[in-house]
Amino acid sequence: MGAMESLRWMEARLPEILKDLEAFVRRESPSGDLEGLEAAARFLEEAFGPLEGRLSRKDTPAGPVLLLKREGEGAPVLLLCHYDTVHPKGSFPEPFRLEREKAIGPGVYDMKGGIIALLYALRYAEATGRRLPALEVLFTPDEEVGSPESRPLIEAAAKKARAVLVLEPPTPEGHLKVARKGVGLYRLRAIGKAAHQGVEPEKGVNAILELAHQVLKVAALEDREKGTTLGPNRIRGGTATNVVAEEAEVEIDLRAWTLEEVQRVEEGLKALKPVLPGARLVLSGGLNRPPMEPTEASLALFAKARAIGEALGLRLEPGRVGGGSDGNFTAALGVPTLDGLGLFGGDAHQKTEYVVVPEIPRRTALLAELLAAL
Ligand SMILES: [Zn+2]
Repeated sequence: MGAMESLRWMEARLPEILKDLEAFVRRESPSGDLEGLEAAARFLEEAFGPLEGRLSRKDTPAGPVLLLKREGEGAPVLLLCHYDTVHPKGSFPEPFRLEREKAIGPGVYDMKGGIIALLYALRYAEATGRRLPALEVLFTPDEEVGSPESRPLIEAAAKKARAVLVLEPPTPEGHLKVARKGVGLYRLRAIGKAAHQGVEPEKGVNAILELAHQVLKVAALEDREKGTTLGPNRIRGGTATNVVAEEAEVEIDLRAWTLEEVQRVEEGLKALKPVLPGARLVLSGGLNRPPMEPTEASLALFAKARAIGEALGLRLEPGRVGGGSDGNFTAALGVPTLDGLGLFGGDAHQKTEYVVVPEIPRRTALLAELLAAL
């Protein structure tokens, strides 16, 4: 059995794969929508329940977390699947449609398509009696909001795993992901003193003015060459036009490839000193997702996938992307992590999100072969 056999098997099942993809995508499941998440979780139970292994469920305030455990040799390989999407219900004119070579729908690319790819990779292994390593598959409901409930479960499972595969989509060029930037969110508050702008403005300390000085210093902490960016992307302050602004705050999005850069920026933020006499600064927030930095072991994992891709006619490169995923958590624990094993497509988080239908069999076969090769 080789890559071409599994490709032919997948090609023969493309209509069936599309039917499952449609049924799953039609159960719209935006993060936080417990009804929608429940419906999607039930689809997963119906689809994965009959497979070899044991499927269990844990209800959390963010929605159900499902875990599929499949016996096999050695320490388990952990597969990360989130089934929430960023799209509020009804965002698309039609929750699933086919247009020429595209299948379009909320979450079809990020990442319900990847979950369907896994479903067929497992069905293929069972149909052919192929041996797989021990597997644990986590289906989580809150990745798009930072995985507040799932994170401890993901980390606990990762600590026992010998490798982690993330079924997020590949890069827009179709490459796998070996590096992701870390993501931090910080809030800088300036506190001044209110006073009547007309009667005695000299008694006030203007927090907006103070913050204006600080925002430029924050931006100066960027290092574009190293890929470190700081976005002061939300700002608010003041109460009325005739009152010297007593408070103002800015929210800052930090992205960086390395923990070293995160630390440099955090030190810079902590070292900010007020410019106006009488003003104070308060910094809060921190790192939400640590950077996913490539290691020798994760690159070895990638090399395996690349070799399989070659046999399938795919040219895979080690991709690096700015967005975070649950792979950031597992990579930070030192567990070799390979991301981007979902379906090929584009327009993530947009109302035109799609996967390329004729490419589905090759991506599904890639996953099936990679599982067998681990
Ligand atoms: Zn995703």
